[in-house]
Amino acid sequence: MLKNSWFTVNKIFISIFITILLILTAALIFAVRWLKKSLFRDDLTGLLTTKKFLAEVKKTLKRAKNVQYSLVSLDINSFRYITQVFGQDNGNKLLSELGSLFSKTAPKGSLLCRNYNDNFAFLIKSTVLPVLEDIIVTMTTVNGKIKKLLPQHFKIEFSVGVYEIKDPNEEPLMILDKAQTARKLGKSSLNPKRICVFTSQMEINSQLEKDIIFDMERAFKENEFVVYYQPKFLFNTEKIIGAEALVRWNHKKRGLLTPSYFVPMFEKNGFIEKIDLLVFENVCQFLDRWNKSQKDKKEKQPLTISCNLSRVQLYNPDVAKIYHNIASKYEIAPSKIEIELTESLMMDNKERLLKAMNEIKNAGFSISVDDFGSGFSSLSLLKDLPANVIKLDKEFLNTQNTEKEHIIINSVINMAKNLDMATVAEGVEDAKQSALLKKMGCDIVQGYFYAKPMPQNKFKELLDNPDNFDSKKNDDSTDKTEKTDAKKSDEHK
Ligand code: C2E
Ligand code: MG
Ligand code: MG
Repeated sequence: MLKNSWFTVNKIFISIFITILLILTAALIFAVRWLKKSLFRDDLTGLLTTKKFLAEVKKTLKRAKNVQYSLVSLDINSFRYITQVFGQDNGNKLLSELGSLFSKTAPKGSLLCRNYNDNFAFLIKSTVLPVLEDIIVTMTTVNGKIKKLLPQHFKIEFSVGVYEIKDPNEEPLMILDKAQTARKLGKSSLNPKRICVFTSQMEINSQLEKDIIFDMERAFKENEFVVYYQPKFLFNTEKIIGAEALVRWNHKKRGLLTPSYFVPMFEKNGFIEKIDLLVFENVCQFLDRWNKSQKDKKEKQPLTISCNLSRVQLYNPDVAKIYHNIASKYEIAPSKIEIELTESLMMDNKERLLKAMNEIKNAGFSISVDDFGSGFSSLSLLKDLPANVIKLDKEFLNTQNTEKEHIIINSVINMAKNLDMATVAEGVEDAKQSALLKKMGCDIVQGYFYAKPMPQNKFKELLDNPDNFDSKKNDDSTDKTEKTDAKKSDEHK
């Protein structure tokens, strides 16, 4: 009897012990799985984290014998706009749904990762471009679930960069970087490509890009960004009425760099906001000094200076307030400053643009549509824009001199007049162009034929002694020194 009960107690103990052991093992397996998931998987999409992805790419390439792979970098166009307008929550839901879509549609054997924000990276088993294109199209064909997260007519678009991996021993980070470079260059090229394949030429660009991005903060602190002024003349009197402020990077090693070297990159990484503010403040300081110098003069010479405003700024809801506050600090009437917004912005988002333009105009600034005629914006858009000035793009003026072209330019000038806007001809390089535009009734001219962009001291000298300056014979090209020799450019200061 005693023996029996001893056995029963023992049995109970053993089964409790086994149960506890089983529970602990299950908990351990669960914990390990959870740990693996949270360490190696992105919370939002369930795809691999970058660190794990790079490690897996390395392993996969090592194992691959004759199989060839490509690395694909993908991001959503205007994702920043989507989160700003439709909210962070919707943005997150969109990323999560895209994660599931990519997992379902990627070919077997692919590695998928969310790199950061809306940026994804995939390792795909193919280097044949048409095959890859098909795969990417399938993976990015959004389903109803995703469409539901976006407004009815919003079309989600992606930018894609592809790097065909030739050397399986190449560092995965370099591989990813190359696919990203291809994507970025494809997106920012004049003719944006949906899928852009990496070429060796891009390697050189990406190195330059890295150098520039690495150096920008230092350069900013060491005052290497300087402002040049390109005078604007009234066509009728040929008198200077103002200037356009244009940024230059007086790089200690590379020399004087023009904006084409760095502005596109700064637009991508947002640094342009700092540059625009620096230029704007410099303009206010210049106008302040100019106004003070005019105080005791009988015949005062008013000046209007224009500054370029990057598209990045339009996402800042306080932009008009910030600019107005800076102008107030120097007691500059906002009407003496013109804000140039490039025509290509009209392609972005009309509502946002109009809102920002109205705020800037209500703050008292004048607004001009820069590079008009360079893009595809419709003429009818002009009537909706609260702009005061149209700047005809230099390409627009680069005509074959046919009668048809003259009719078009003439009509744009007349239309601007009817809409109460002034016209500026930009990029006038010779007497023929100048005479033609003057005859057509264009109001203001800015171009190398009259004066090139110059450092502010030189512009001040020119304003003080306009008679000493024969612009049309002026051959001291500031631009010849640009890009090559910063020291030479100092001569102009
Ligand atoms: P933009 O605003 O259209 O400026 C006019 C550009 O045309 C300037 O180039 C000027 O030097 C050039 N230009 C003027 N007259 C002539 C001419 O007769 N012939 C030729 N071939 N070119 C002429 P730049 O200074 O290289 O600037 C290029 C672009 O960079 C600007 O185009 C503007 O979009 C951007 N940029 C310049 N400064 C800034 C800035 O401070 N902020 C922002 N966001 N963008 C800037
Ligand atoms: Mg401009
Ligand atoms: Mg322009």
